[in-house]
Amino acid sequence: MFPEGGRPAEILLARERIAERVEELAGGLTSDYLKRPEPPVFVGVLRGAAIFLADLVRAASIDIVTDFISISSYDASEGQSGIVRIVKDLDLDVSGRDVVVVEDIVDTGLTLNYLRNALEQRQPASLRVVALMDKAARRIAPVPIEYVGFEVPDLFVVGYGLDFQGRYRNLPDVLAVHDLARLINDPGLLQQGHLKPNVRC
Ligand code: 5GP
Repeated sequence: MFPEGGRPAEILLARERIAERVEELAGGLTSDYLKRPEPPVFVGVLRGAAIFLADLVRAASIDIVTDFISISSYDASEGQSGIVRIVKDLDLDVSGRDVVVVEDIVDTGLTLNYLRNALEQRQPASLRVVALMDKAARRIAPVPIEYVGFEVPDLFVVGYGLDFQGRYRNLPDVLAVHDLARLINDPGLLQQGHLKPNVRC
């Protein structure tokens, strides 16, 4: 819990910093996929990665095909079992294609581990992952992430696509939340100027 009188949330990644890093990631992806025979298929993992994917593909200077997949997350009653399943599958057949999975954040790695295995079975020409954030301290399943936007500490984050109970996805910055109850009960806190950036990552 955040100390009495302290801020319930603070800006971990400001929008300008995100935009800069997205440009860099898109630049790397552009050069890596420029000479491939067919446009790569960028697979956004719903719903958290939708905003990141939208910015990333627009910052890249190559032809890109997009598709989406939705995975059920394991719930607290299952513990960290790694049991996940596909709720909404891809519309495209990705066999023989270059696939780039676009994730919002990798935490335990269980979801991405499942997804990588499920997509490998479809025999893509190549499979890589770009994640906006990597919370490596919490990793249970070691899983490769070829492109990482930011290494982040073990904090609960919302904004720029990431939610808490469906809310806060539309915040342009990524916030580290210290006191969810206070954040929920005081929507005014999200107004411009009430939250200050922190410099932990
Ligand atoms: P993992 O399977 O790696 O533990 O979890 C990955 C998913 O959990 C992410 O795609 C994201 O939806 C969710 N997640 C993990 N950490 C956070 C976080 O700090 N904030 C939010 N909003 N979601 C998170």
